[in-house]
Amino acid sequence: MDRALCIHGHFYQPPREDPWLGHILPEGSAAPSRHWNERICRESYAPMARARRLDGAGHILELLSCYEWMSFNVGPTLLSWMARSAPETYARILEADRKSLARLGHGNALAQVYHHVILPLASDLDKELEVAWAVADFTARFGRAPEGMWLAETAVDTPTLEVLAAAGIAFTILAPSQAEAVSDDGKAWRGVDAGSLDIRRPYTVLLPSGRPMAVFFYHGPLSQAVAFERLLADGEQFFRRLSGATGQGLLSLATDGETYGHHFTFGEMALAYVLDQARSGRDGITLTNYAAFLAADPPRRFVRIREASAWSCAHGVERWRSDCGCTTGGHPGYNQQWRAPLRKALNLLKTLLDAHFFAVGGPLFADARKALVAYGRVLAGSMTAEAFEAAHFAAKLPAAGRGVAWKLLSMQAWGLSSFASCAWFFDEISRLEPVNSLTFVCRAMELARGTGMADPEPEMTAILAEARSNDPEMGTGRDIWDNLVRPRRETPKSLVSQAMLHLTLEGRLPPSGESAEAVWPGVTVAVRLDDPEDGARPGTASIRYALETAVEAYAVRYRPAVTADPYDGCLSLVAPGGLEEGFCLRDVRLPVNKRQSLADAFARHNEETWFAATLSRAATARRLVTELQEAQHTLNLATLWLPLWPGLVWHDVFDLPLPEKNAALLRLFLLEAGRNSPVKAALEARLSDETARRLAEPDPDCRKLARLIQRAADLDLHPDWWPAQNALWERRPFAGPTAELAKALGFVV
Ligand SMILES: [Zn+2]
Repeated sequence: MDRALCIHGHFYQPPREDPWLGHILPEGSAAPSRHWNERICRESYAPMARARRLDGAGHILELLSCYEWMSFNVGPTLLSWMARSAPETYARILEADRKSLARLGHGNALAQVYHHVILPLASDLDKELEVAWAVADFTARFGRAPEGMWLAETAVDTPTLEVLAAAGIAFTILAPSQAEAVSDDGKAWRGVDAGSLDIRRPYTVLLPSGRPMAVFFYHGPLSQAVAFERLLADGEQFFRRLSGATGQGLLSLATDGETYGHHFTFGEMALAYVLDQARSGRDGITLTNYAAFLAADPPRRFVRIREASAWSCAHGVERWRSDCGCTTGGHPGYNQQWRAPLRKALNLLKTLLDAHFFAVGGPLFADARKALVAYGRVLAGSMTAEAFEAAHFAAKLPAAGRGVAWKLLSMQAWGLSSFASCAWFFDEISRLEPVNSLTFVCRAMELARGTGMADPEPEMTAILAEARSNDPEMGTGRDIWDNLVRPRRETPKSLVSQAMLHLTLEGRLPPSGESAEAVWPGVTVAVRLDDPEDGARPGTASIRYALETAVEAYAVRYRPAVTADPYDGCLSLVAPGGLEEGFCLRDVRLPVNKRQSLADAFARHNEETWFAATLSRAATARRLVTELQEAQHTLNLATLWLPLWPGLVWHDVFDLPLPEKNAALLRLFLLEAGRNSPVKAALEARLSDETARRLAEPDPDCRKLARLIQRAADLDLHPDWWPAQNALWERRPFAGPTAELAKALGFVV
């Protein structure tokens, strides 16, 4: 296959969930989004699924899913967040793989090492788990086994490739600098470097096991140019650079997915232009993916890889364990001597966790190692807890043993999560990434202690004390542990308190004798309350972590705040057979991001109730407001009607209009009042969501929706029609009322 082109995108975010709540807490630096996953999804992952191809006049020709025409991998932990929080984009990613599979016989999606762990630095067990869980996750989502796997930072060595091959992975992608020597017959070798390596065809790596493993090498300079040389500023120029570089065999680029749209605004549109030109066969180019190329043009030559090398460190894999000089973060005077003790502390802990897992888990599982490997299927949702217990738990295991077994599995998952490569990648130990990594350690350690392991904290923090922050105020790794990590720990007290605060702030406190739940992805707290006795409501609170069977139940007494401040409420908790602990919610000392998360929940709840109220009152008001308008010559009471403005707009835009005389007066009022309305942006967001929602219904009234868009414009409202455009794109071909709406939404019709 000649003049073949494949552009690969590596889409990944470090795990940033709070390991108790399983929920991403607010990250101030990601404003205006709540956290970085949300921000990068809005800037890159979502636009990549719906990249606008425009004509010369700026009208939309097509919404192109770049995922459908490029090779890609998306990290499993990112995909599970997306499935929950950005389902539309998630669905487009899965669809892209299905469509490319139908077109090329091989899907575009590649698997990725589960927690983005630097595999050459991982133990044999951890290598196996990271790969097996990645395969399980991929298979559950994409409905097929993965053919290729993206290695975190393309970090590779022979044992890593052996684990991939044993898991049925056919190929991976490496940087040209990771090839050491090539051979035509597997016997006579000649040394190569990034400049002399022929990257146009895949190679076979001769593994000691004899298992097949192919390696593709991407084009270094062009991949770099996408990231750093503004190639995405001009789609035509980008295409010409690529076209000029194609020739015999395959030209492939490997890029970070976030380059498109996040690092480079509208980069996805330049990419969409290139993909469109290439798929139309301009200059004789064939768009393909790695697996399709591999099937058409199997490797005929051999390569010896540089052991323990990666794409983002010139010193092997030192970036993830020593002060090698590779860094990102923009602080010239900083050093990274903290990397070694951080690695040492985590390695020590994982060794202890493994020993504990097999010692305690031995009698609980039919085969502890097999159970741990298969746990990836539970995480992926392709195996139910019941099926897993039946297949992997020891026969007739009592409830207590089952509870411990699930906790041990969870402990291992958090232990692995702490090794996500990002903890070492940047220049400072007090950054978000290392602190998150240590938070996962903290959670794993808690599960270890809870299942009978001797406390590893003193030994581990002694090692962390050797890590010195570049910021003198931060001190050592042990100070960071004490000041930034430990305060994040949840206890029954903090969890029940947050549940009570949520229920209060969202107006969901249960009536007597009934229950209400505070639900996070990682844990659920169910609260039942009875009639008050002496001003306090007795009841129970039970805590259950996701993927665990143990339920911790507490007797509670809740004394609601007599002030308007819910933090003035007080609570007492009694553990089974334990002592009663009484406290006021304000003394629980929740970390700031958990308090922000509560404030966020309150603001959302408040907006919901406020909007519902204005909507129902405005239904009456629209009949009356014109009478007010008629009196405007003598009276000016318009400010009294202002709070009803959003509801009135809503009715005006979505409902049948009033008689024309009244309607004209009402429009005038709405236009005037809207100019300075503080809730204009919130209303525009609601209009945008509602329009997209209506468009997604089975039989939308497109003519009515087209009028709606015009009416919004008449009122000087300019919602972001992006979601509506996406929804309409699903209703092609555009004809009749659909065409009318398409035109209103900026499409070329
Ligand atoms: Zn380095």
